[in-house]
Amino acid sequence: MNEAEREKWYAYHHHKYGIPLEHLKRDYEEELSGKTTVDAPLEVPDKMEIFFKYSLGQQSRFFRELRENKKIYGARCPECGKVYCPPRSHCSLCYKPTEWIPLEGTGVITACTVQYFTTSAFIRKLPFICAYVRLDGTDFIMMTNMEVEDVSRIKVGTRVKAHFRDERHGAITDVYFRPVV
Ligand SMILES: [Zn+2]
Repeated sequence: MNEAEREKWYAYHHHKYGIPLEHLKRDYEEELSGKTTVDAPLEVPDKMEIFFKYSLGQQSRFFRELRENKKIYGARCPECGKVYCPPRSHCSLCYKPTEWIPLEGTGVITACTVQYFTTSAFIRKLPFICAYVRLDGTDFIMMTNMEVEDVSRIKVGTRVKAHFRDERHGAITDVYFRPVV
């Protein structure tokens, strides 16, 4: 193929599949320039779309309780009494299977940062807050989505409370936290 033909080939596949031009050129320039022998395997662009589902496994109840009952559940070790949230199916200290326990949904910020820069996917959320919270009745910290109008309220030691979205999907984003007024 001459250069004009190659450019047409790239443009066609770029529009058909949405593959970036530089990727097409990187992967097919050698073939299209005629540098490959005629009997070498011919590779052509294609596209694959996959719908799939994945299991939340032994954390499933945590997400169901968020979605169905607007409740946060932790996992308690029957041996040492430590309470995990996010939950764990087994205690990482004793290796015993844990038991589910409902939590109040209140806690305290143990570490936090306010983000003023992000990728385009989150630009409308700026400034947003990443905060680790130790929920009351638990022994571990959990990364949380924090929503507040005045970011100066976000500090280590601030008391916070869980709020639930009206529309819930069985995802960690079903719940967010706000400082207790
Ligand atoms: Zn334990």
